[in-house]
Amino acid sequence: MTSAHAASTTELERDDEFWLKDGSVVLVAGNVGFKVYKDLLATHSPIFHDMFAQSRPDEQEMYDGCPVVHLSDAPCNLRHFLRALIHTVRPLFYRSDEDTKISIDELFAVAHLAHKYDVGELLRQALVCLKSYYTNRLDIWKQGGQAGNVPFETSDKDPLYAIGVVTLAHLTQTPYMLPLALYDCCYLGGRVVRGWTREDGTVEHLSLEDLERCMDGSTALATSALCSSIDLHASVEQAELCAHSKPARFGGGVPSTCEAAQAKIKSRLKTNKSSVMGTRALHSHMATASLSPIFAKMCSKCLATLQGRERATHEAVWAELPSLFNLSIPDWQTKTSS
Ligand SMILES: [Zn+2]
Repeated sequence: MTSAHAASTTELERDDEFWLKDGSVVLVAGNVGFKVYKDLLATHSPIFHDMFAQSRPDEQEMYDGCPVVHLSDAPCNLRHFLRALIHTVRPLFYRSDEDTKISIDELFAVAHLAHKYDVGELLRQALVCLKSYYTNRLDIWKQGGQAGNVPFETSDKDPLYAIGVVTLAHLTQTPYMLPLALYDCCYLGGRVVRGWTREDGTVEHLSLEDLERCMDGSTALATSALCSSIDLHASVEQAELCAHSKPARFGGGVPSTCEAAQAKIKSRLKTNKSSVMGTRALHSHMATASLSPIFAKMCSKCLATLQGRERATHEAVWAELPSLFNLSIPDWQTKTSS
């Protein structure tokens, strides 16, 4: 953790944000110095506590009147970590919906350094934040994560950071984040092999075991998506429920608005097969931009029938998600709690 040879402090670049005049220790990461409060770090982190306690005053390297501690962390990561412990920009007690979302870089830097320096409460908060998306409950994911209602910045199109979530789930022994993180990894395609580049330039890769899970899972998810699409587009059989169907004596036999809409959707699918194959197994087929205006023309009863079918297939995929990735997650919620 501390480097064996003390790098020269004469070339030290003082951090703009964390050079506190009454600071009592200088942490050096790369060539950047952070003058902060020794006791505050020692109070929160047993690792820092022991590190400071072990340093011998007669051998202590000094800078600007403070003992110097060399760390192996990247300056950008340490800055994020210190921001969570020492609020220099603005105090923070409660994060409301109007607050800026936590960036992925910040979230991962805080989670990793909180784990490394054993700041339990900070690690817990970082994981609660991640678990608002990478949850074990389908209803929470649908209402929160999938809709973007989470406190950190997410990307529906390019969630390369899901690779980092897999790594972090293993590191912090939080296995229930794994199924959705691997689900996201499956839709990264071949890029999943190249890994995810963190803000500090390091590249995180999936282990061979997790890559194998992705490859097996991708096939199973593609099959599920196709099957659920076939189920969804089966005709709505209970025509008597349809608000648009006409009894025979009022001209029945003519296709209703709903039947016409279903026929239009099917013909659209024939000409654009990627809208079937491209739909992710847990994402709504009915909400895809090219199809949703046609679905919207159907009566509420037919629409409810189709939404019920889609919900049922999503619940079935969700229940199987851990096993699709050869995982056993004891606290995986297969029933939607009300
Ligand atoms: Zn209808």
